Amino acid sequence: MNAKHSTLAPDPAGGSLVISLDCEGKWGLADCLTPQTNSLFSDEALIAVYRRLCKIFSDFDAPATFAFVATFLMTPHEAAKQLDKLGYGKERAVSIWLAAYFAQRQQGDLNGWHLPCLADIVSESGVHEIAAHGFSHLPLNSDGVSPQMARTEISMSKKALARLGHEATTYIYARNEIANVQAVGESGFLGFRSARLSRGRLSNFASEFSLMDTAEPFSGSHERERFGTVAIPAGRILNFHIGLRKLVPRFVTVRRWRSILDDAAERGGCAHLWFHPHNLISDPQAETVLRSILRHASNLRDSGKLRIETQASYAKERASLSSGNSTEAVSIERLANAQQITVRP
Ligand SMILES: [Zn+2]
Repeated sequence: MNAKHSTLAPDPAGGSLVISLDCEGKWGLADCLTPQTNSLFSDEALIAVYRRLCKIFSDFDAPATFAFVATFLMTPHEAAKQLDKLGYGKERAVSIWLAAYFAQRQQGDLNGWHLPCLADIVSESGVHEIAAHGFSHLPLNSDGVSPQMARTEISMSKKALARLGHEATTYIYARNEIANVQAVGESGFLGFRSARLSRGRLSNFASEFSLMDTAEPFSGSHERERFGTVAIPAGRILNFHIGLRKLVPRFVTVRRWRSILDDAAERGGCAHLWFHPHNLISDPQAETVLRSILRHASNLRDSGKLRIETQASYAKERASLSSGNSTEAVSIERLANAQQITVRP
């Protein structure tokens, strides 16, 4: 057991592991696509990695939240029609964001940008959640993004996914840039993934070595009351051996997550693990880490100490609960102050 524990009151609904995936293909890299990532994240590689992930989750009976950029699940023809209808090619901030997409479309090379079949792969088991990750993955705190554009990006992601047959009930902000939380509630999302207070890249990197790390508390009904949507604990990104992060030994990552999961089980907190499916294309060996974490989580679940649930289930359960943690809750206002994130009404 951990020597260090969360000091907060337990989640009234019990401890859980939530796994969320930011599903975006090349949309998430629109402003930083390199020749290497452009060839690495091909249709073929992306389809294979989503199949592989579903197999891993199925081996441990673990449901996960797959949050898709709406345009990623559209055909090029549908996307062209909708982007045009929204005037996305004319809005300066959006056209800057999508410059690489428009350039590749003109060249007739949309490999890695449109994969409607991924929704079928994810839906096949009937246990995973399809959530929203923006309409076009526009980061909402970018220069020139107006409150109205942020609202459109959020609300259209839900409508577009519904048109494709998916009732998305939770939201994940592009690049974790929290903005216009009220629009998330008003668009009908039950909850959204919160974001962590950023203490800088070095500090984030150092935290990867924190072997006694703890789960997050239920942040209470504060955001629900204020914005009409539940703030799901922000969680931590799974470490992949990409760039500087290669320096973190895999066994350290596994031990850190065991500590987080033990704390969630013992104290009734939330262990929220997230990453991008394409991270597994860049670092295929990370599958062993993911499997070790899921093995530990499924053992805790099988002994009745932990639930493995989706964001939708987490938000639904907590929507009606109040919390004893109100003074320590990670409120969206605090996040906004610390990260200079705009919380626009
Ligand atoms: Zn993303």
